[in-house]
Amino acid sequence: MSPEPAAGSSAPPPTCWACRGVVAPGDDFCRHCGRRQMRGDTWYYQAGWILFLALTVLGPFALPLVWRSTRLSRSDKWILGLAIAAYSVFVLALGAWVFALMWRHFMEIYRLRSELGYQ
Ligand SMILES: [Zn+2]
Repeated sequence: MSPEPAAGSSAPPPTCWACRGVVAPGDDFCRHCGRRQMRGDTWYYQAGWILFLALTVLGPFALPLVWRSTRLSRSDKWILGLAIAAYSVFVLALGAWVFALMWRHFMEIYRLRSELGYQ
């Protein structure tokens, strides 16, 4: 699914995200600085879980999971990223519309109270 460089090609060896030291492909921790290596293949990097987390609790904050996932192809990342971004914009617009509606009703109630002589 993800484009892996072929063995023996001129691709650079994997490096630590923190110290840039060379690490082996299967290392969970850096041999130089000891930081955990984000390999992008745990459960929350699967497309279904990313989508579930984006739609329930994370919203646009699920986008880093899309970028870091090694389980998704480049086109899958674009599709999922754009879908999450579009959903986030929709929810934000919906929230703004609901707020404006509530504000209008609140102001109408306030105006009627004033007309009826309540302070
Ligand atoms: Zn390191």
